[in-house]
Amino acid sequence: MKERPGNIFTFHDEVLGKEDKEALLGQRAYAVWMTGLSGSGKTTIAKILERRLHAEGFLTRLLDGDNVRDGLNRNLGFTAEDRAENIRRIAEVNKLFTECGVITINCFVSPTKEIRSSAKNIIGAEHFLEVFVDTPLEVCEFRDVKGLYKKARRGEIKNFTGLDAPFEAPDNPSLAVTTEGKTPEQTADDLYRFLHAKIKRK
Ligand code: ADP
Repeated sequence: MKERPGNIFTFHDEVLGKEDKEALLGQRAYAVWMTGLSGSGKTTIAKILERRLHAEGFLTRLLDGDNVRDGLNRNLGFTAEDRAENIRRIAEVNKLFTECGVITINCFVSPTKEIRSSAKNIIGAEHFLEVFVDTPLEVCEFRDVKGLYKKARRGEIKNFTGLDAPFEAPDNPSLAVTTEGKTPEQTADDLYRFLHAKIKRK
């Protein structure tokens, strides 16, 4: 170990960076940030995509409301302040993963441009891929996977995105996928083909 003036050590003083981790893993790290209404298909697509990438040797991490709200963010509710803090922490987690070379796949409604832009700023624009899961409200409500639309229509849930709270579609997403008239596998394949070109190391 060499000593620099001022007792600063040059050996081991450089923290390993994203490039080192990516080289180790043989991939390029991105944060895939899916946005869309509840029931649009984010989680379904993410699960298929993750299995496919995993089978091909890519290291990924799927992040969704279930695994974040139950742990890291369990002290947060649904006030505007808590929603902002929820996304801030999720974005910081994404940053830790991408700095470690890992590809993250996020499934959060993230309904406003402001929320998504704050996540992008924390993660870093160069690693952030905004994917709009573009399923019309009527289709999401017809699917009503978790029965949430029915509850919201009955007034049991307030500020439900798409009904009494706005969803702002991205103006210029990295990719928009549709799900109507497609199988989940077909939609996941659309995302896979877009992503694969970016994450594979030449
Ligand atoms: P979200 O995570 O956006 O709330 P989910 O993935 O939980 O949505 O639910 C989407 C529902 O839509 C699932 O029941 C899924 O089977 C159905 N679905 C139908 N077609 C598609 C498609 N092409 N892509 C994704 N999901 C689809």
